Amino acid sequence: MDLFKFAHGQSFPPGTLYLVPTPIGNLADITIRALHILNQVDGIACEDKRHSSMLLNAYGISKPLYALHEHNEISASAHLLEKLRNGERWAYISDAGTPGISDPGAILCAEVTKAGYQVSPLPGPSAITAAVSGAGNFLKHGNGGFQFLGFLPAKANQRDELLKVAATSHVSSFFYEAPHRIESTLKSICAQLDGERKVLIAKELSKIFEEIKVIAVRDLADWMKTVDSWQGEYVLGIEGVARTESPTRFDESTLQWISAINGRIGHKELSEIIAQITGISKKDAYRELIEKKET
Ligand code: SAM
Repeated sequence: MDLFKFAHGQSFPPGTLYLVPTPIGNLADITIRALHILNQVDGIACEDKRHSSMLLNAYGISKPLYALHEHNEISASAHLLEKLRNGERWAYISDAGTPGISDPGAILCAEVTKAGYQVSPLPGPSAITAAVSGAGNFLKHGNGGFQFLGFLPAKANQRDELLKVAATSHVSSFFYEAPHRIESTLKSICAQLDGERKVLIAKELSKIFEEIKVIAVRDLADWMKTVDSWQGEYVLGIEGVARTESPTRFDESTLQWISAINGRIGHKELSEIIAQITGISKKDAYRELIEKKET
């Protein structure tokens, strides 16, 4: 079977930048189309030439390489624009995973788009999508939605601010975290979040010591004592907070007479009457009337 048959069918316009995801651990996690593009382009820009050479050598790909990393992304983008202007096709690969996802590539993409050239992002490996796909029920409170908040800040106070955002969100939040900070981050989670809340720890995805652990905050400290080494790469998740149906403070009969006179008098007056009859405070009655109007 010709493995590249389908990749050949894809259009391959000149003057295009291809954003090509590369494996996050297992060298086999590269798509047929990614290999096809890397074989066809005029050159490959990469975050680190030595690092990417290992992948390219493994697949017998030999192309001119050009370094584009977080410290030279603007000037290197200008260099690549020249290449596209000449009708060349170039690929960009970061050290691992999808370019632009907590990696260089976003500025390059913006510059190429601004200059009117095509950017073609290939689907492929990323630690965040692998972790979310293995998260199962972890997304249930957000109806399958989630937010990815990139790397947690290195400074503890900024990290804790972001953890607070996750603590109050209905959708589950995911972060990348460095191995030398994960222990202190988990301790901070233990201190900040209620015991019922679940945490997801996805370690070394697609590698030999791959592990995905979903654990309630109340059990986290005990589990941490069982960990021998924090070495490895991590995606961290914090479960979204469950939505609670806020029960109406108006009982059935109150609701009936409210709906009978609602609209004939203003909300302010109506809330005064409700307060007199039911004992609910005027403020609460008014707020509830407004909430009902909005739903
Ligand atoms: N662009 C990459 C992507 O698409 O996933 C992310 C690059 S970022 C510089 C590297 C971080 O991603 C690591 O510090 C770790 O938090 C996460 N990561 C990368 N590979 C991973 C893996 N195999 N397992 C778990 N997390 C991983």
